[in-house]
Amino acid sequence: MVEIDKSKPVMVTGATGYVAGWIVKKLLDEGLTVHAAVRNPNNEEKIKYLKLLAASSKGQIKFFKADLLEKSSYDDAVKNCELVFHTASPFSNRVKDPQKELIDPALEGTRNVLDSVNKSETVKRVVLTSSVAAIMGDTKDLLDIPNRIATEENWNISSSLTHQPYSYSKTLAEKEAWNINEKQNKWDLVVINPTLVLGPGISPAITSESYKLMQQLGDGSMKMGVPDFQIGVVDVRDVAEAHYKAGFTPEAKGRHIVNAESKTFLQIADLVRKNYGDKVILPTKTLPKWVVWLAAPTAGLKRKFVTKNVGYPWTVDNRKSIEKLGIEYRPLEVTVNDFFEQMIDNGAFEKA
Ligand code: NAP
Repeated sequence: MVEIDKSKPVMVTGATGYVAGWIVKKLLDEGLTVHAAVRNPNNEEKIKYLKLLAASSKGQIKFFKADLLEKSSYDDAVKNCELVFHTASPFSNRVKDPQKELIDPALEGTRNVLDSVNKSETVKRVVLTSSVAAIMGDTKDLLDIPNRIATEENWNISSSLTHQPYSYSKTLAEKEAWNINEKQNKWDLVVINPTLVLGPGISPAITSESYKLMQQLGDGSMKMGVPDFQIGVVDVRDVAEAHYKAGFTPEAKGRHIVNAESKTFLQIADLVRKNYGDKVILPTKTLPKWVVWLAAPTAGLKRKFVTKNVGYPWTVDNRKSIEKLGIEYRPLEVTVNDFFEQMIDNGAFEKA
């Protein structure tokens, strides 16, 4: 049981990120002081929306310069905090050097953040933004587990540096966080494992892969059809709520799968077709798996990925997040329509 004193500041790593934006907003709305750890606090353009959020809320925000790859760089930001949200980690599937661009910042970054936490005398709880990617690697892996439904008991055992390296980075980072947590007894660790996060961003300039994926769905890149690829999806606002509850629910414990529904890409497109079908170019059909397999390299996909992920159902158990954190999931129709509305307003599909 961990009670957090809300008069103390709360550190958020990667405060400029898509998921972090909503966490910061929630904390500010609740009147808390946020220690926003960002790579470049002097980039006024990038942080001004966070300052505006603070100005119109009960809370306060203070910026600190920190980089996942720099030892001790979170020492100042963590000072006087009882609660830490560690969200920073590169989220991309398009990298040239997975070790340098994904594994090092995720793994070394987790070590560096938790090293600063260990040096602090005040931190009582760390909430880590992991991913369902640390639970399941390939969709096909679900066939090997009881009832074919992934739970918090499962770990990704199929990703590697060469196959799904982002998922591998999240798995290594979460495991390392648990290892470091077990070696001390000053702070506890609560983990959030979201599926694909969608929904409008707080920042006007979203960089997350979530945004790029939905942009591709609507800009005509997939007009010939989409793979029969099923994924779990959750609203970014519900993910932020889950983080908040994980931080401030004294009895919160362990990992939490955060997922609203499973959908194929075609089903996601169908959710927005009625409202925005005339403004974006959405796919209308599913491509046969053999076509996707053949075309994979030209679409930037590995054939092994297609073999192990296309055409399988994706099911995860989200009951713990509902029962222990009290999350009430928004319908996905709301999530994706709100997201598309924002993206259209921002000109994301202008070439469509
Ligand atoms: P995002 O907008 O790209 O956020 C990533 C954040 O990590 C950014 O704030 C970025 O800082 C920071 N970061 C990256 N490298 C860093 C470094 N070397 N030092 C310091 N900060 C660094 O992506 P997101 O979707 O919000 O992802 C946030 C977290 O959610 C990640 O841990 C991701 O794995 C997890 N997650 C995301 C999803 C999803 O579907 N979006 C699903 C499951 C889990 P800059 O702003 O300076 O670039």
